[in-house]
Amino acid sequence: MIHASLTELRAALDAGKLSSVELATLFLDRIDRLDSGLNAFITVNRDQALAAARTADADIAAGRVGRLTGIPIAHKDVFCTEGMLTTCGSKMLSNFVSPYDAHVVSLLKQAGAVTLGKTNMDEFAMGSSNENSHYGPTRNPWNTGRVPGGSSGGSAAAVAARLVPAATGTDTGGSVRQPAALTGVTGIKPTYGVASRYGMIAYASSFDQAGVFGASSEDCALMLSAIAGFDPRDSTSLERPAEDYTQALRTTAADPARPLTGLRIGLPEEFFGDGLAEDVRAAIEAALVTYRELGATTVPVKLPNARLAIPAYYVLAPAEASSNLSRFDGVRYGHRAADYGDLDDMYRKSRAEGFGAEVKRRILVGTYVLSHGYYDAYYLQAQKLRRLIAEDFRAAFAQCDVIAGPTSPTTAWAIGAKTDDPVQMYLMDIYTIAVNLAGLPGLSHPAGFGADALPVGLQLIGNYFDESRLLATAHRFQQATDWHQRRPALAA
Ligand code: GLN
Repeated sequence: MIHASLTELRAALDAGKLSSVELATLFLDRIDRLDSGLNAFITVNRDQALAAARTADADIAAGRVGRLTGIPIAHKDVFCTEGMLTTCGSKMLSNFVSPYDAHVVSLLKQAGAVTLGKTNMDEFAMGSSNENSHYGPTRNPWNTGRVPGGSSGGSAAAVAARLVPAATGTDTGGSVRQPAALTGVTGIKPTYGVASRYGMIAYASSFDQAGVFGASSEDCALMLSAIAGFDPRDSTSLERPAEDYTQALRTTAADPARPLTGLRIGLPEEFFGDGLAEDVRAAIEAALVTYRELGATTVPVKLPNARLAIPAYYVLAPAEASSNLSRFDGVRYGHRAADYGDLDDMYRKSRAEGFGAEVKRRILVGTYVLSHGYYDAYYLQAQKLRRLIAEDFRAAFAQCDVIAGPTSPTTAWAIGAKTDDPVQMYLMDIYTIAVNLAGLPGLSHPAGFGADALPVGLQLIGNYFDESRLLATAHRFQQATDWHQRRPALAA
């Protein structure tokens, strides 16, 4: 049951082969056994999980069955959960228990999912390796000396190690896709505005988007269908009818041997240039051969401004963060310094003690680029680049249906290898960040292994609202390959 898909779990629960309580216990015991070596969870709440599982069992017995009723999941600790600690990976919020659920959390509850706990993450979702967590780094289940990626590294590692069948994450600059790639799981971030940001602790609001992790595209489609949809409490939530993303996976192909016939996959030359590790390149090229065998054609496309994505993002995201994080003042939420003089001193000391180094760096950069005299030179310029990058994608999608390339330039690196050099760390987002600047949907799926037997992820980027196409494309690939079924030895 540990390795079963969500569909298989649904069938087993409905057939009474096992109860939700038994299923939750199976995974909770596995967390107890394995998580000390991974640190994927910040909070595990057995009592609350088992209570939710008992409710699910009663619902199943009464025939009130949603798609995820009784299925265990975990939430990235950026999502507010009523009555359960929500730390956002920070000392600042180490004592914060939210009085309400994030919209994504309520939707998954409504769908019947059983929350086992909250997963580790880079502090305030700032990072690419999960090493910026106040709760210590999460370890990659494929090699515990390596990072799992970030900032949703805890969710990715938990799904990869089968500590939980599926989990939520957030993706501001790649934090669902990049850790999915580095841990060998599937992850998708929808179009900006598809999932509500209500109750998701803000990092950079014009980029932040919820996403999901699963063992397969099919599992992700089930999870995404549960969390997507309009929410009036988020002013950037899009008023569109909710979609069932599993439908596109069930269509029968005219030519079953070549189910992707007619699909044009754009390959941006900028995603295959210098800086791409040879082992990642080889795995991606082999996966593209499979895509062609499945009937897709590949066409070269250009994203000439993609190289400006990192500088633009690392101006805009810190700018928004500096504003968003000003609410943490030691008065209304979280950590307050024990000793202080006047009010200003209390703010200063609480923030100095409560935030980690990377968060402070971003607040400083963000405040600087927004300041009088620098706003035009940095913030405004970066906004213009953002538009140019979106235009690049618009032009590329005139020639192709989806864009493919590596998710990350390398496989998982050693813990500590890049912590002294923030720019090296920022460069790990080179293929994911442009997608957030444009607000497009992106998916990463396992596509083989690199030199050290570490997973390689292939990124598929879609046009606005093309989540179904991304999921269906990855699903066809997964029906023809078994990379997504490989498991780390730890999780055997
Ligand atoms: N690595 C990027 C950053 O540090 C993206 C993080 C994210 O998507 N939350 O900002």
